Amino acid sequence: MNKSKLFTAMLMSGMLYACNSEVPTAKAPTESVAEEQTAESDVSSMPTETLSAEVEAAKNLILAEWTGPYQGVPAFDKVSLLGLKPALEEAMLMNLKEVETIANNPEAPTFENTIVEMERAGKVLGRVFRYYGIWSANRSTPEFRDIQREMAPKLSAFFSKINQNEALFKRVSAVRSSEEVKSLRADQQRLVQLTYDGFARNGATLSGDKKKRYAEINQRLAELHTKFSNNVLADEENYVLYLTKEQLGGLPESVVQAAASAATERDKEGQYAITNTRSSMDPFLTYSTERELRQKVWETYYNRGDNGDEFDNNELIKEILTLRHERVGLLGYDNYASWRLEDRMAKKPENAIKLMESVWPAAIARVDEEVADMLAIGKKEDGIKEIKAWDYRYYAEKVRKAKYDLDSDEVKQYLQLDKLREAMFYVAGRLFNFDFAPVAEGSVPVFHEDVKVWEVTDKTSGEHIGLWYLDPFARKGKRSGAWATTYRSYTTIDGKTNVLSSNNSNFSKGQDGQPTLISWDDAETYFHEFGHALHFLSSKVDYPTLNGGVRDYTEFQSQLLERWLTTDEVIDTYLVHYKTGKPMPAELVQKVKNAATFNEGFKTTEYLASAIIDMKLHTINPEGLDPDAFERDELNKLNMPSSIVMRHRTPHFGHVFSGEGYSAAYYGYMWAEVLTSDAAEAFEEAEGGYYDKEVAAKLVEHLFSVRNAVDPAEAYRAFRGRDAVVDALMRDRGFPVKTEK
Ligand SMILES: [Zn+2]
Repeated sequence: MNKSKLFTAMLMSGMLYACNSEVPTAKAPTESVAEEQTAESDVSSMPTETLSAEVEAAKNLILAEWTGPYQGVPAFDKVSLLGLKPALEEAMLMNLKEVETIANNPEAPTFENTIVEMERAGKVLGRVFRYYGIWSANRSTPEFRDIQREMAPKLSAFFSKINQNEALFKRVSAVRSSEEVKSLRADQQRLVQLTYDGFARNGATLSGDKKKRYAEINQRLAELHTKFSNNVLADEENYVLYLTKEQLGGLPESVVQAAASAATERDKEGQYAITNTRSSMDPFLTYSTERELRQKVWETYYNRGDNGDEFDNNELIKEILTLRHERVGLLGYDNYASWRLEDRMAKKPENAIKLMESVWPAAIARVDEEVADMLAIGKKEDGIKEIKAWDYRYYAEKVRKAKYDLDSDEVKQYLQLDKLREAMFYVAGRLFNFDFAPVAEGSVPVFHEDVKVWEVTDKTSGEHIGLWYLDPFARKGKRSGAWATTYRSYTTIDGKTNVLSSNNSNFSKGQDGQPTLISWDDAETYFHEFGHALHFLSSKVDYPTLNGGVRDYTEFQSQLLERWLTTDEVIDTYLVHYKTGKPMPAELVQKVKNAATFNEGFKTTEYLASAIIDMKLHTINPEGLDPDAFERDELNKLNMPSSIVMRHRTPHFGHVFSGEGYSAAYYGYMWAEVLTSDAAEAFEEAEGGYYDKEVAAKLVEHLFSVRNAVDPAEAYRAFRGRDAVVDALMRDRGFPVKTEK
């Protein structure tokens, strides 16, 4: 198994896909969770002998080859948590054996017997990770979290063991410098290089004490990352604000209902619960007329991980940064960010910082304008003298209504979840020539009754491409936000495989058979995640490793897909009123479009503050660091507006400290957005607009189907004929551009 694939798998198992948008969630207990708990308690009371037979059977189910239709599908309906730990342990052993076989092959190393064999290895472990990922993201329980805590350092030790296999690395190096390489295809040469880098960048070139230390650091980091994220989770679960009927001023009916069910779930029938999550905090701060309560909710939310109690993350942050710095130092890098960005599209921290600093002044200048607009209303209506951070969303909503006359609740009535899904299918048909058809109920196992599955085929040839699983609704044990993942990726090394892709979100299910209505932001997120799925489904790469995402590039494809939500074709047919069936009126659409750059000062600033702090934390020597003071000082240097806080403050910045997926990489969203804005202009300039056949074909060929088989910068140039420019992003956000288009 290739290193980058291993890391992808590791990441997938923990965090899956982190996405830039968090969406409303009303957490509800589910049957599946209840079932798991029953299974657990039954087991503990069973005699040992029965238990081990049962565990054995459960383990084997998780390890087993996928059977059934569509080249075999995960047995989500059969697997139980009981077998997870032993299955994971056994699969790791199997993978180690596979790797040993490759490493000890008596024949001279070749592309086929070394690199391709590594691509083949790890299939069983890959299957276990898929289940592991579902437990982690879609159906977590305290029992699972115990397993996760126990297994995190073991997994880390396992990855180190493969990575530090000297015989294997020797063979990979030999292939890389062989004559044979020169005769390989470009994608094969790239595979060799990525495989080599995967080792070299992760400690394989080290020996002796350094090597040992490297593995120790990784093991400790794995523990710290898990602890960090569990601390944040504890602060999210432990703080709940209960309100009485008199304290609901300003809240729309949908928010009141969500708060009522959240209270009921917590045995506080008749009260209203504001939970300590973004999806609860955000609407409360937007609508509540109670300034003191807003302050309380704001403070509780932005102090997650920073309360000086047992769940405080500051000490962990120090240790994590120190260990990361020491680890890349062993490899000869100046700082963590230099190591991290080397295989990213940005290549160097300076390039990422340059982009962020070029946008920052326009962002904070826009904040001044926004604050002035808000203060005018705030003074007049409530006699306030200053826009505090807990006032921003509230008065922004008032400005939105005054300036754009846009009522989010009215817009919502045209955004039915089912219709939006049909719209996405329509777009996929036009751009990718994909057809989506629901599979027969019960023919493909799912892990919850809410999960639905569609078969994806080529519209012209009818060829089967894969499946698309959708898990749309919030429930207890499901992580917040929205994300996409795969259960099987495209490859041709042992015959062409289909793709099993999935989208996951946290929408609140419509009450009593009513359609589920979502906000404009959520509709964009829905399209965004579908973009990831299309990126998986359109893959045409031969080797699994080449399916890997490049962090500052892989959000681009998904961000781009959001653009189709506002195309006339989608609006006219799919954005229809849930009662009258009439399409969204042109003037309401215009209002939404006019409002698109609204509050962009706030959004860009809260994001960039987090991205810049992330990058700075990973370019300094962290010795003696005080995370709180560092954050404060750096933000002061940037002239951070006092009315805004970082989107993710350091003590709960899970992207960066719950793992290494987004460490020194949060800038990647904006990096990808530059590509997004620039690529969108390619469609806008084309004769057929967003459905232009020629541009769409180029899009699929150069930017989707090749995944990581081509260097992203080259792929982009093949699509656009030049590099992307930041001006397109500035135009999109309504910021001043030096050269007007
Ligand atoms: Zn995404």
